[in-house]
Amino acid sequence: MSRVGLCARRLDQASSSKIVRRTYPVFTIGSEKSSPYFAQLRGFQNTTCVAEKNALSRSGTTPPAKSNGFSDIAFAFDIDGVLYRGGQGIPGAREMLRSIRSKDMRYVFLTNGGGDHEDAKVASLTKRLGLSPDEDVIRNRVILSHTPMRGWADEVKKQTVLITGSHPETARKIANEYGFSRAVTPADLIHADGRIYPFDNLTDTLHSEFRPLPDGKSASAVVDPYSKELNGDALKIDQILVWNDPRDWSLDIQVIHDLLVSHRGYLGTVSDKNGKLSLPNKGWQQDGQPELWISNLDLVWKTEYPVNRFGTGAFLEALKGVWSAVTRGAELQYNALGKPSQFTYDYAHTRLLQYYSCMEKTTMGSGRTDATGLKRVYMIGDNPESDIRGANEFCPEDGTEWVSILVRTGVWQQSAAEMEPRYKPAVIVDDVVDAIVWALRNEGIDASRSWLLAGGM
Ligand SMILES: [Mg+2]
Repeated sequence: MSRVGLCARRLDQASSSKIVRRTYPVFTIGSEKSSPYFAQLRGFQNTTCVAEKNALSRSGTTPPAKSNGFSDIAFAFDIDGVLYRGGQGIPGAREMLRSIRSKDMRYVFLTNGGGDHEDAKVASLTKRLGLSPDEDVIRNRVILSHTPMRGWADEVKKQTVLITGSHPETARKIANEYGFSRAVTPADLIHADGRIYPFDNLTDTLHSEFRPLPDGKSASAVVDPYSKELNGDALKIDQILVWNDPRDWSLDIQVIHDLLVSHRGYLGTVSDKNGKLSLPNKGWQQDGQPELWISNLDLVWKTEYPVNRFGTGAFLEALKGVWSAVTRGAELQYNALGKPSQFTYDYAHTRLLQYYSCMEKTTMGSGRTDATGLKRVYMIGDNPESDIRGANEFCPEDGTEWVSILVRTGVWQQSAAEMEPRYKPAVIVDDVVDAIVWALRNEGIDASRSWLLAGGM
């Protein structure tokens, strides 16, 4: 087992201790599902704290740190639009990272990207930034949108889950590595029963890889959709995981719909509670249907193409539209990971607290092994709706302040239509190098751009 694997598992065990008590994490954003679990979730939007934080940000009176060192501050970097845009690294990002790395500062990369394994993202980010593979600048610091699922309780990972995404088979392999032992993809379903999608399909390309359904289950076991006497072979799905931005929206929306209208998640059934006005949400999703998890809510993302591209949030909006039409306006109940989900920030915060125990002592040189307290974490992002909103609303139990910094190199661009971002950061700067300079000055350190790019010497 690799050192990275050992480290990730230790972190997950630590962070999952609180998750086990709740079976698995749930939280609310927008129209997401309400549940008895939600109010209990650690750190979710303390409105008093948010108001105080916003007031500090607007007045610019965030007090400087008294410390002369760097041990009680940390950074969380978004990646796309912050460290690179399209295939091009942001000028100075590489040197800045080397500089803060050399000073033993804590940092993680917190991205709503996903679909690949964390190690693959480390490799691609290393390459795009022009870093050497043996430079210890990126390794073990990447948190993807689905990474917090590593910390889910074992009893949830043993359930049968439907996984879809940009490359469902890749997502399944990663989920298997996370510990999910019964993962089903849409490809499995249409190969098991072609009637599920009676149109031209992508079985020669996107859905060419498939596996038998787990435990010998069948996708064709149900004949009467309203019968409660289910064949033992009937396939029951317990969770739906939208791993990252789906490619085959039509099939995915069909299959997700089928499960959300089902009786207790049995494929091919239809709940007799659907549409009952006496029940909450008009009876929709009130019959033990699987939980729906969306790995991030980003409507668009920035590439080299001049117009922003659709992300996972766009798929969710399409699903919502179909759901609203089918249910005549009932709410789609779902849970979200990724920024601005407070669970994702909580996961990142835990990683930062346990940072030194995660790093190799020989390369860190500090010898610190236990969770070390933090005074401030600077979230540097380009997306007000995810990066900035999430940091502004996050109030960890240990009192650490998360401060948001918006850069101009990505999604958000000042325009006549949008002079100010909807979610306001502590400061708006030109790029990620200026962000670090601002943060260090906020800590009372006489930093400059040239100093930082020269290695902070
Ligand atoms: Mg971004």
